Amino acid sequence: MTVDIIGAGIGGLTTAIALEKKGFKPRIYEQAKSLKVIGAGIILASNAMQVYRCLGLDESIKSEGIPLNALNITNEKLQLISKVDLTHFRNKYNLQSIAIHRAKLQQVLLESLKHTELHLDHQLKQFTKQNSGYKLEFENGKSVNSKVVIGADGIHSKVRNALNPGSQIRDMNQVCWRGVTKFDLPKVYRNELNEAWGKGDRFAFVQFSPDEIYWYAVKSFTNGPEEFSKDKLGLYFQKYPTLIQEIIKKTASETLHTTVMKDLKPIHTWYDAHSCLIGDAAHATSPNMGQGACQSIEDAYVLAESLSMQTAPEAFKSYEKIRMAKAHRVVNQSRQIGTMSHWKNPVAISLRNLVLKSIPQQVTISQLEDLFELDRYSS
Ligand SMILES: Cc1cc2nc3c(=O)[nH]c(=O)nc-3n(C[C@H](O)[C@H](O)[C@H](O)COP(=O)(O)OP(=O)(O)OC[C@H]3O[C@@H](n4cnc5c(N)ncnc54)[C@H](O)[C@@H]3O)c2cc1C
Repeated sequence: MTVDIIGAGIGGLTTAIALEKKGFKPRIYEQAKSLKVIGAGIILASNAMQVYRCLGLDESIKSEGIPLNALNITNEKLQLISKVDLTHFRNKYNLQSIAIHRAKLQQVLLESLKHTELHLDHQLKQFTKQNSGYKLEFENGKSVNSKVVIGADGIHSKVRNALNPGSQIRDMNQVCWRGVTKFDLPKVYRNELNEAWGKGDRFAFVQFSPDEIYWYAVKSFTNGPEEFSKDKLGLYFQKYPTLIQEIIKKTASETLHTTVMKDLKPIHTWYDAHSCLIGDAAHATSPNMGQGACQSIEDAYVLAESLSMQTAPEAFKSYEKIRMAKAHRVVNQSRQIGTMSHWKNPVAISLRNLVLKSIPQQVTISQLEDLFELDRYSS
């Protein structure tokens, strides 16, 4: 069966790989003229790495990135508030969470495609229902008749707008800058992500290649783009320790990516008889749990398993049933974390930090058990 995928992001590419493994011949239609990567680094947590192990890609990804042993939240002085010890999950699943450059991940995914047609410069313009499928019309004037369409076209999905016209993208009123720089990180910070929470802002850094780090800085805003100046980052984060000041100083401001944080208010229909949404198109989350791509990777895996066992409409139904609860939990929790991490009231901040500090490691770990346990198709 031919399956048409709209979008060659992490979700679309992983879906194509998973479908190929099941004997499908996917066709991907991507609006970009060339596949450039936006957004510096990414953390692939245990759930995503389990999928990549099933697809035979875990070793290639590991060799291009840096394995993580811990996820730390600190105060703005880099004093520890909360630690997730990832060695528990390493032992449980016999694999590690990986910090990797997005370009390297994309390269691994592209190289593993064998039978997929990748059509660049194909921006979906119109998505029209026909008797047994859809007519896909592209901005370049071409059109295709399709029996099975997967909308992997991100938060502003055209496919979702056709399936679910009332969906609502929500602004977090937070702006995020992402950077990459060569940096000799003190040994104590290697193999872990550290996210320092201040007052209405936070700063995180992680080593993701032998001599480079990936970092992100997030700040609440009230007015808009006039507060997004890359050149003022040093000023915005001047209360943070010298290490963080140095990281900002070492990064060429013109290489930074600026993103306004958004998510999709949970929608409760992801499919119709011939089309289905995955990844950010279905459940875009704010990035506060580092799970957006991981969730789209889980989608890809479950959807390919379902399509290999059932007709498309049945498979879409199973996939939605298996995936929706966890994906929506991530959207909701991530939004709460995003809000809580940007509190400005010093009393509330002290209280929050005390509470977080008092949570036993075992409880923190058990809260993540469900998140990292892979959703699976079962007949
Ligand atoms: C600051 C930040 C940090 C993040 N960090 C992490 C992290 O550490 N870990 C993690 O798991 N997630 C993280 N995420 C989330 C993650 O980046 C996304 O969830 C993930 O990239 C979604 O993948 P996707 O394939 O569903 O969508 P996208 O990556 O948005 O891909 C959609 C693709 O569809 C194409 N497209 C769109 N419209 C059309 C059209 N009309 N026709 C044809 N093609 C089209 C686009 O060009 C794009 O290539 C982060 C996000 C942000 C903003």
